[in-house]
Amino acid sequence: MYEYTSSKSLFERAQQSIPGGVNSPVRAFKSVGGTPLFIEKAEGAYLYDADGNRYVDYIASWGPMILGHAYRPVIEAIKKQAEKSTSFGAPTALEVEMAELIRSMTPNIDQVRMVNSGTEACMSAIRLARGYTGKNKFIKFEGCYHGHADMFLVKAGSGVATFGIQEVPGVTKGASQDTLVAPYNDLEAVKQLVADHKNEIAAIIIEPVAGNMGCVLPEKGFLEGLRKVCTQENMVLILDEVMTGFRLAKGGAQEKLKIDADLVTYGKVIGAGLPVGAFAGRREIMQHISPVGNVYQAGTLSGNPLAMSAGMALLKELNAHPEHYSELEAKTTYLRTGLEKVLAGMGIDHKINHLGSMITVFFSKAPVTDFASAAAACGETFKKFFHGLLKRGVYLPPSAFESWFLNNALTYDDLDFTINAAAETCREILN
Ligand code: PMP
Repeated sequence: MYEYTSSKSLFERAQQSIPGGVNSPVRAFKSVGGTPLFIEKAEGAYLYDADGNRYVDYIASWGPMILGHAYRPVIEAIKKQAEKSTSFGAPTALEVEMAELIRSMTPNIDQVRMVNSGTEACMSAIRLARGYTGKNKFIKFEGCYHGHADMFLVKAGSGVATFGIQEVPGVTKGASQDTLVAPYNDLEAVKQLVADHKNEIAAIIIEPVAGNMGCVLPEKGFLEGLRKVCTQENMVLILDEVMTGFRLAKGGAQEKLKIDADLVTYGKVIGAGLPVGAFAGRREIMQHISPVGNVYQAGTLSGNPLAMSAGMALLKELNAHPEHYSELEAKTTYLRTGLEKVLAGMGIDHKINHLGSMITVFFSKAPVTDFASAAAACGETFKKFFHGLLKRGVYLPPSAFESWFLNNALTYDDLDFTINAAAETCREILN
């Protein structure tokens, strides 16, 4: 049996000095109950908590650690750069190299601006789309999460969905009045919004594969339909690739799903675990950003040399060895098949959604294609499943509204270990 003595006492202490004891809400285990684990270190596919317990990690820091933790080339790059100072606030060759590398890996991108988080990337992309089109409104989808900027906290996924927050106090009506919301995979609803708000909509922003209501895939023709509407109506199509970028393929969802965005946002993998984001896209649009244009956007630490060095070390490896993606896909398919066998064998209602190395088990009889169907899955079974796996050494995201992320340091033994833990957990749930 695992002991959680140190995590428990750290959580007690943390709650005195940090709201809820955490610096990002979902980490607190509030919706699944129990004590959040305080992590001491991680290596490859494993996390080690403050009590010395080891876990097979399916969070991967919510996406970035695609080749596993403490990946040597990343660590070496950070060490080497740190010797030369951690920030200059002036241009560097590293930033040029990073932008060139991103352009060479991803389709349809002429220019890149680095920021410090996925939130910043998405809010800047919306400002740019508004500045470029001269229109104010934008469409997002129910259950998608684009960061915690005011205008995105409307029917948002991730922690907002996990905690069932209907209206976020502090977000003014003014800030959210230009946010239009459609159900995911509902092209007709989008067309209706466009008809109702003719010439008022600057952009559509979407997670091309959603990860913030659990993993939900775009149905055939949906993204293509959005592309067409955007072109017809002079609206900017923004693919939020904060999760999918450099994860589903070298060129992210744009490459994997063969869909061309006007603007793309990145985070997570692009920074290899350091605080980084980026927005990028067609030159014609990007040229409206300051100092070329007047759409103002800035950052003291943007393009930070440590972050650029770390991100570049990871991206270079993915660029040179795209077999990482086929290996990850094979491992995820293996895990999915194993879990499906366990759940079906025990007669537990489930639907598993997966693409590439993103996967979610929903405890649902019906297919999960949007937020309503994701929310209808059984939350109580998820809680039991989560804790059953945790006490057997497998760490899943502590919410049913999150995708799991596989990393390529996982071995087939780790996957078998996970499938066995799931089988034991399910037997326990049924007893
Ligand atoms: N967009 C998506 C699709 C995300 O998953 C997230 C974070 N999970 C964000 C934006 C916001 O990124 P950050 O937490 O780095 O601000």
